[in-house]
Amino acid sequence: MKLAIFNEARLGVVQGDCLVDVTSALPEWEQGPFSGWWNRFSESFSSRSADLARAAKSGKQIPLDAVRLQAPALSPTKIVAAAANYKTHVQEMRTLDHAKWLYEFGVFLKAPSSIVGPDTVIVLPEVGKRNIQHESELAFVIGKGGKDIPVERAWDHILGYTCLIDVTVRGDGDRSERKSYDGFCPLGPWLVTSDEIPDAQNLQIRLWVNGELRQDCNSSDMIKTIPEFVSYASRVMTLNPGDVMTTGSPPGVGDIREGDEIVVEIERVGRMAVRATRKS
Ligand code: MN
Repeated sequence: MKLAIFNEARLGVVQGDCLVDVTSALPEWEQGPFSGWWNRFSESFSSRSADLARAAKSGKQIPLDAVRLQAPALSPTKIVAAAANYKTHVQEMRTLDHAKWLYEFGVFLKAPSSIVGPDTVIVLPEVGKRNIQHESELAFVIGKGGKDIPVERAWDHILGYTCLIDVTVRGDGDRSERKSYDGFCPLGPWLVTSDEIPDAQNLQIRLWVNGELRQDCNSSDMIKTIPEFVSYASRVMTLNPGDVMTTGSPPGVGDIREGDEIVVEIERVGRMAVRATRKS
């Protein structure tokens, strides 16, 4: 099932070029981005997918053009990001970046307030001589939360998958600051639930800037697999329903400039386009 959050945080099920508003099938739904309904829904989705499918079948189809899609995440308690998780990207960073970093697998946090939906304009901040770059990433949302999740149980904790652009100010300084400006986390266009992704470890991820292909890699190139990432992160912090996790960037990171159109596409998941502008 493709779950979309749209307009004033309503829930839709996407069918082709349309969606069906299924908000009335959610007793926990409340208006407002901090009401918490999405997190409760994420936790209980598996027991309710049949109800939702029924609601989606009988509801009226609305063309996607007629709605405003929002990011498929509402007030997650955190965005957990994998650092340096593609073999080829690690090699690339070693040649680009002279900082004495240890390029070993680790996780870091990106501020949830950086999330924006598809069809959004990223307002590029003033960052002096440093570059602002794109990282195209396969992201997922946690359904059932947990702590110390064993690798072999990790798949059971994933609600579904989406596209994420981890916008980053390249250079020295704290990573959480460089990646947490408002608008630095375009997410979308919707969430494809896990049952529709037979092998998340074999998905092609592509990113174009103004039509030029910059990133083109398969999720099979990850150093730590998705279950290993979930398990690793959950040994540090409790993963809560609705949390966003992003698996790290493939190679080909590059600059984003004013006026650029950035498109990310992940096989079986979807395609999202955002534009970059400067504060006027
Ligand atoms: Mn990243």
